Amino acid sequence: MKVMKFGGTSVGKPERMHQIAELITAAKEPVIVVLSALSGTTNTLVEISNRLAASDKQSAIEKITTLENYYQNFIHDLLQDASILARANDMLNEHFEFLKITQKISLSDALNKDILAQGELMSTKLFSLFLEQAKIEHTLLPALDFMILDQNEEPDLALIQEKLNGLLENYPTINIFVTQGYICRNAKGEVDNLKRGGSDYTASLIAAALKASVCEIWTDIDGMHNNDPRVVDKTVAIEQLSFDEAAELAYFGAKILHPTCIWPAQQENIPVKLLNTMQPTALGTVIKKEAGSVGVKAVAAKDNIIAIKIKSSRMLLAYGFLRKIFEVFEKYKTPIDMITTSEVAVSVTIDSDIHLDEIITELNNIASVEVEQNQTIVSIVGNEIAKTDAVLNKLFQSINEIPVTMVSYGGSPHNISLLIPSEHKTKTLQLINKGLFDL
Ligand code: ADP
Ligand code: ASP
Ligand code: MG
Repeated sequence: MKVMKFGGTSVGKPERMHQIAELITAAKEPVIVVLSALSGTTNTLVEISNRLAASDKQSAIEKITTLENYYQNFIHDLLQDASILARANDMLNEHFEFLKITQKISLSDALNKDILAQGELMSTKLFSLFLEQAKIEHTLLPALDFMILDQNEEPDLALIQEKLNGLLENYPTINIFVTQGYICRNAKGEVDNLKRGGSDYTASLIAAALKASVCEIWTDIDGMHNNDPRVVDKTVAIEQLSFDEAAELAYFGAKILHPTCIWPAQQENIPVKLLNTMQPTALGTVIKKEAGSVGVKAVAAKDNIIAIKIKSSRMLLAYGFLRKIFEVFEKYKTPIDMITTSEVAVSVTIDSDIHLDEIITELNNIASVEVEQNQTIVSIVGNEIAKTDAVLNKLFQSINEIPVTMVSYGGSPHNISLLIPSEHKTKTLQLINKGLFDL
């Protein structure tokens, strides 16, 4: 069994669905196809939800109508068989009726998640109808029947495995299964999701649950590049990354992968391949146990970081002081990304301001606190780069004009992270591209 996940741009046009059909039928083993929503759809659904939250019902309805027209055009391009087209039409009507009805109810968290789930529900049903028209035998597996979160809002891999295997047993002769990325159920049984970009996570969880031979992530670029191609002109694809390197890059901002999607595949030692739907013969990137080579592989940047400087001349070195600080972040379920300490101060960074006010209020009871917003973490990732000072020297020589506000070195042999004010991000990534990659 192998997993093939296709992202938003890979399903975003009718001709791309033709291409996906070719790729999945060429597979030499049974395949689970994980689909995202059509590109732009989840953004539009977020927008619809925001307008509903702001009681701006008129403009929410306008957004829904524009989206509906887009899907109507899409099915007319995709489907020629009259009876299948009629079923696609009925299916869309059902989903858009739901979206329109939400405008009459007040928005709860659960309803918001239901709205966000519509994209993947529609894309998979459309693709399934397209396969039916092409007479390609397959089964649609509802992700809401097996992708389950536990009480801590983390995927419950054991339960996912049990449910998924149970479902598959019903179809011993089927070789192509289609399912939704991103969407899941939480411990209360409500519709939920794996956060933005979460279809990659779905794919990796399914691969781990089924002990698949490979987890293929098909997207719009030929693999993980050495730098952010949206920011820097000259970037190149990386042939091989270790699980640890890929996890660091994903967590620290390489948008091609969901931040936490590597661990399930890593746990079962399943290779993850990043491939280009538009260029299927390109080599892509393979992510596996071995790093392949020593040295710098890539740099990534994560925006919207908040730095919190906690100062206490009296208590810092006292036993238990750090514990008290960490307990505040734990209480508000806010992970810390970077940390540095000195004799009298601790600086940490977080990427969420949801509980910032409460965290600051509580920290103020034990120390004095300064907050700096609009920061960016720049992470340099590679095999054993933090074991010698060669990379560190080159790095600081190449960015000597950038005001670095924090450095994290030695936490992992694969990562050197810097904190900079966000306005310097583009320049920093360009300088690193020259200084460390010679590009
Ligand atoms: P999908 O819709 O297939 O999930 P995403 O938009 O989530 O695709 O991810 C692919 C995009 O990630 C690329 O188009 C590229 O702009 C962006 N990206 C950011 N950093 C990198 C990187 N280091 N290597 C490759 N792509 C990157
Ligand atoms: N459709 C979801 C999103 O846009 C999930 C994904 O594409 O991975 O975030
Ligand atoms: Mg993505």
